[in-house]
Amino acid sequence: MKCSNPDCTRGIGLVAYQSGWFGKRRYCSQRCRNAFAADARNLRQNPKSALLKRFVVAFVAFVGLVLPTTFTMAILTAPPARPETSYVAGCDRNLADVSVSVTAMQARIKSLSGVDRSEICKATRLYFFEVVKARELTALCKSGTERERDLDRLDADVARTNEAIAERCL
Ligand SMILES: [Zn+2]
Repeated sequence: MKCSNPDCTRGIGLVAYQSGWFGKRRYCSQRCRNAFAADARNLRQNPKSALLKRFVVAFVAFVGLVLPTTFTMAILTAPPARPETSYVAGCDRNLADVSVSVTAMQARIKSLSGVDRSEICKATRLYFFEVVKARELTALCKSGTERERDLDRLDADVARTNEAIAERCL
């Protein structure tokens, strides 16, 4: 599927970005979506009709919310903050396992630089799913400031990996 930003020639990565819950347009990256929203804002300065103006106001009102596809919502939605004392069975082992595979895949992608693009893309997609898994476990198992910090870092990694896939693999 193509990115909805008319200035963009890329496809959409594993995550599509959209504006608002009911946004029909999908973008390859937050950057593309925000650039398109900026165009919509310019349009508001000089509306062609009251109807168009209302539409643009509603559109712009949603801008700034990062609302990925249903797929991403389902797997990336963090459960509410957990009390420090709670314990989830298997957390320690699962977190350790996923951190080992994330590190191994990072090393693998580095070692692939310069070789066949389809190999790099395959490894990057696998890496994406591993980071998503790491995020899910972090949201479930960690608490307090460590949780916030790790989730921020993992979210940035998810977005970066998704953009890399949209740019190079589609
Ligand atoms: Zn784009």
